[in-house]
Amino acid sequence: MFERRRQAPPCDVCKQVPTKSESGRFTCGCGVSFVWVNGVKGNPEERARFRQIGYKWISVQDGGYYAMSPYPWIYLFADNTWELDPHIEAPELLTEYLDSVEAIIAMR
Ligand SMILES: [Zn+2]
Repeated sequence: MFERRRQAPPCDVCKQVPTKSESGRFTCGCGVSFVWVNGVKGNPEERARFRQIGYKWISVQDGGYYAMSPYPWIYLFADNTWELDPHIEAPELLTEYLDSVEAIIAMR
């Protein structure tokens, strides 16, 4: 399986993590922007891992899905990328991010 990488990592040029504007676009400090697209439910392996950690799949009114938990919500996209809402700093690889969430849960 290919590693799922973040859709909007910090910008190579200005190093800012893109943030969401009122228009729904994500923009970094130098103005590169992209539009949020509908999320998908991921492959069976990913779905099993999300379920194991305690995420629940929520369908969005205008289409698509996201994975909800007490932690930032996770969107998976059809192009094998992923993102967090809120859009905070996190590892580029989804597997690394999920490892960090599991470590937090294990400490409680
Ligand atoms: Zn930039």
